[in-house]
Amino acid sequence: MCENNQKTNKLKGLRIQTVSLWVSICTILVSILIGHGILNVKKQYHHLTRMTRRYIITQDDAMDMSLGSDHLTEQARLYVITKEQLHADAYFMEINVTQRRERALLEIEKNLSGNDENTLQMSKTALKLSNDLTDREIHAMKLAALSADADISKLSPEIQNYTLSAEELQYSQQEQSDAASKLVFGQEYRSKKKEIDETLSKVTKSAIQTCETTQRKSEAAMKKALTLQSIYAVISVLLVILAYAIIAVLIIKPIKMYIDCIKNNNILEVKGAYKFKYLAATYNDIYETSVTQHDLLRQKVEHDILTELPNRQAFEHIKTGLRTFPDPIALVLVDIDLFKSINNTYGHEIGDCALIRTAGLLKESFRSTDYVFRISGDEFALILLKISPECKRIVGSKIDRINRTLQHPPKDLPKYSISAGIAFSDIGYTDELFRQAEKALFGAKENGRCGYTFSD
Ligand code: GH3
Ligand code: MG
Repeated sequence: MCENNQKTNKLKGLRIQTVSLWVSICTILVSILIGHGILNVKKQYHHLTRMTRRYIITQDDAMDMSLGSDHLTEQARLYVITKEQLHADAYFMEINVTQRRERALLEIEKNLSGNDENTLQMSKTALKLSNDLTDREIHAMKLAALSADADISKLSPEIQNYTLSAEELQYSQQEQSDAASKLVFGQEYRSKKKEIDETLSKVTKSAIQTCETTQRKSEAAMKKALTLQSIYAVISVLLVILAYAIIAVLIIKPIKMYIDCIKNNNILEVKGAYKFKYLAATYNDIYETSVTQHDLLRQKVEHDILTELPNRQAFEHIKTGLRTFPDPIALVLVDIDLFKSINNTYGHEIGDCALIRTAGLLKESFRSTDYVFRISGDEFALILLKISPECKRIVGSKIDRINRTLQHPPKDLPKYSISAGIAFSDIGYTDELFRQAEKALFGAKENGRCGYTFSD
């Protein structure tokens, strides 16, 4: 356990939580930048639409101003020509009630921001010029009213209160009518009117210019914001790819590799992120300990304590493996003759010594590649590998030699002998081979023991 701790303490590698924390932080930062970029684009878009709306309103207002001014000119001129009161009334309706020009100026003032001061000033100038003409128009209408002997009291107070010069009062009606026409149709009036139109046209141009400048600025800002957005999008795609690559390299690949190793009953490769290396190293330690313990346990289970030979269980285990052995083998079943009487005459301890001696003789008489098992009380089994019936004599002579040796026992052991039944198989182990060897052993016993018999 302590050794395992030391091994795992020495491990180095990328820590998944550190890597994923950094990837998450980067992703959050990029997301914040993308969010900020979107807000910026939205802001620029709103600014642009606000400015465009303002431009349209300013243009409409300039148009209204122009229409108001033209309406006044038209009604004043019509009154001067026709002397009909309805034109004078329409004129003052525009001046006092409709007030298109004033309303338009108020709208322009309300809509324009600080940097449109120029447009506002020009709008004010246009209204002032128009108002200058109003004085002239009322003057003309008063002259026209007098020239037509109109009932002044029915006209608006502005006309009633307008004071004509003494000279004008002396004019004949025709001269008054001509003077009125000159006031609203003359060169001076026309040039003032032209000045108003030009000023209002400048208002529109200025509004367009402001709008265009804002559009250009917003377009540049939007372009920049969109470029940044594209960069952030690429970064976020790269981060996703990076996150996938990290998951693939640090997590999926090691897990796949570990599953393959576990399937193939191998130890794990200590590779990948720190946590996987730690797991692999720990698994390998547990695996090695378990293999060692399993081997020890198997040795215990498949081992005969008395003779130290592999036991019946080991025989079953080995013979299962040899069923697919591609070469010829031989099975020799050995049984101690009249073993019961040894036990009965000399006691079990001597019987045990006879078993140990027999096991030792069998072991030393055959090749180290052959197997010797104690499969029951006084019965032994030998599996001789890669051996054919041509070697019968050699096998028989080995049994004979053992029996000769057993006739000259050490002083505390009695003389005894063994019998053997020998069978051959062309290829690997079969159940038939065992039956044949058993039959042959029975034959040897029948033949008077202390010898061997081959199967047919
Ligand atoms: P046979 O020649 O026909 O084989 O006669 P046998 O007397 O040897 O008869 P068998 O092989 O059937 O007898 C086996 C005896 O082995 C029976 C049992 O008491 C004895 N035995 C079995 N295991 C042990 C052991 O571990 N130690 C001792 N001392 N004797 C054992
Ligand atoms: Mg026996």
